[in-house]
Amino acid sequence: MEIIQESVSCLSLAQAISEASRCLYCWHPPCVLSCPTGIEIPKFIKRIETEDMRGAAAVILKDNILGGTCGRVCPVEELCEKACVLNQLEQRPVSIGKLQRFAIDSFLTHHHFKPRVKLPSKQKVAIIGSGPAGLSCAATLAKAGIEACIFEKKELPGGLSTYCIPSFREPLEVALREVEEIQNLGVEIQTKKELGRDIELEGLLKEFEAVFLATGLSGSPRLGMAHEEYFLDALQFLSLAKLNPLSLSFCKHIVIIGLGNSAIDCALVAKKIIKANVSIIYRKRLEESPAYPAEIEKLMKETINIQTQSTVTAAVIEENRLIGVYCSQLDDPGCFDKRRRLKEKKEFFLPVDLVVRATGQQKPFWLQKMHIELDEKGFIKVNEKYETSVPRVYAGGDCIRTHGLFSTVHAVEDGKRAAFYIAQSFQKKVFV
Ligand SMILES: Cc1cc2nc3c(=O)[nH]c(=O)nc-3n(C[C@H](O)[C@H](O)[C@H](O)COP(=O)(O)OP(=O)(O)OC[C@H]3O[C@@H](n4cnc5c(N)ncnc54)[C@H](O)[C@@H]3O)c2cc1C
Ligand code: SF4
Repeated sequence: MEIIQESVSCLSLAQAISEASRCLYCWHPPCVLSCPTGIEIPKFIKRIETEDMRGAAAVILKDNILGGTCGRVCPVEELCEKACVLNQLEQRPVSIGKLQRFAIDSFLTHHHFKPRVKLPSKQKVAIIGSGPAGLSCAATLAKAGIEACIFEKKELPGGLSTYCIPSFREPLEVALREVEEIQNLGVEIQTKKELGRDIELEGLLKEFEAVFLATGLSGSPRLGMAHEEYFLDALQFLSLAKLNPLSLSFCKHIVIIGLGNSAIDCALVAKKIIKANVSIIYRKRLEESPAYPAEIEKLMKETINIQTQSTVTAAVIEENRLIGVYCSQLDDPGCFDKRRRLKEKKEFFLPVDLVVRATGQQKPFWLQKMHIELDEKGFIKVNEKYETSVPRVYAGGDCIRTHGLFSTVHAVEDGKRAAFYIAQSFQKKVFV
């Protein structure tokens, strides 16, 4: 299997300077307001224009410690680049994401985050989960001189950036390099330590002054059909494809169930990395997909069989192997009356080696047994200071996301803000 390169190539120095020179350096820059982490975008772009890459990186990292990841994965068409005033002049917006990635990559080629000499700190914070929210919280605390220790259940740190965001958008090395830089700040990361199995909340609250829950969400819930044990959920599939693509080389035909952003990632990975024939089965109409328009556009460029208003009804197993699925076309997907749907259905068969369930991620219901209150949608309930229902326990990232985008940059901002309130509770100042 070939090595996958990032689909967006890095700018050369000349290209970066030329792109930076397109910025109008607005007095009240709308792009800054549209960046969830509030990066001073014109300021770092000016530094690039004057070839001060160290200065540019410093401006970015001050507000967003995962600037390299965000420069690659942020849905910029929905955030900073959408707000660029050049759009109103009917010009292409400044490529803010690409410039951000260029500045951080150039900086990290020659420099590292300054290792902090560990000062004995009175306050220690335990962080559960080493995804963007956990890393950002830990880094912000470490910079304020507060000891942060991350407990991560998986073997590798980095959360979805390490395991699931496809390598053509963010290679594994990029995610791990950022984690390493955060460790340089003095953050300790203990992997293969799971809250609820290896460690308990009660014990952590005795040893640490505060706990920050950044556990993200889990894989897609089961559909409830026979032989589902032969299916993978989207997160399992994407992490195999990223860390061990050869294990999927037997897959010549893959069916993806769903048409959200994760389903589109699965389809593109199945096509580009696994080189399989791909079919998407989606219950609703194309225009009802929750995916970003830019992602739908990418999907349409590939030869992928998209069956909308359809559903998988049964899996066919032969000699302990999945060989196909029966699907049915729904005449009226808006109608949830089963009898009517059965009367009007048309059945079709698809040969498959693998079915991937990409029908959304599961909420953190498991935290209820630790007396963490959830909101009506099943996310962790927090107040404006990121405090949960349990004193000294805070939460942020995807596990609290009741509105807004499920995105890396929002998780980074949550981690940063939660660190601010945790430090405030210790009467310490953190500048965010
Ligand atoms: C397929 C996919 C593609 C995506 N692509 C993009 C993109 O291109 N751009 C973008 O901005 N966003 C993207 N996102 C969303 C983005 O990745 C998330 O919003 C972000 O990672 C959330 O960060 P987090 O720290 O809250 O959670 P996560 O990244 O999920 O990290 C949570 C961490 O907690 C650990 N954990 C969980 N439970 C426990 C426990 N009990 N004990 C210890 N550790 C635990 C997990 O192993 C994990 O490492 C994508 C998401 C998916 C699923
Ligand atoms: S972090 Fe993301 S939203 Fe913010 S400026 Fe960078 S690319 Fe844009």
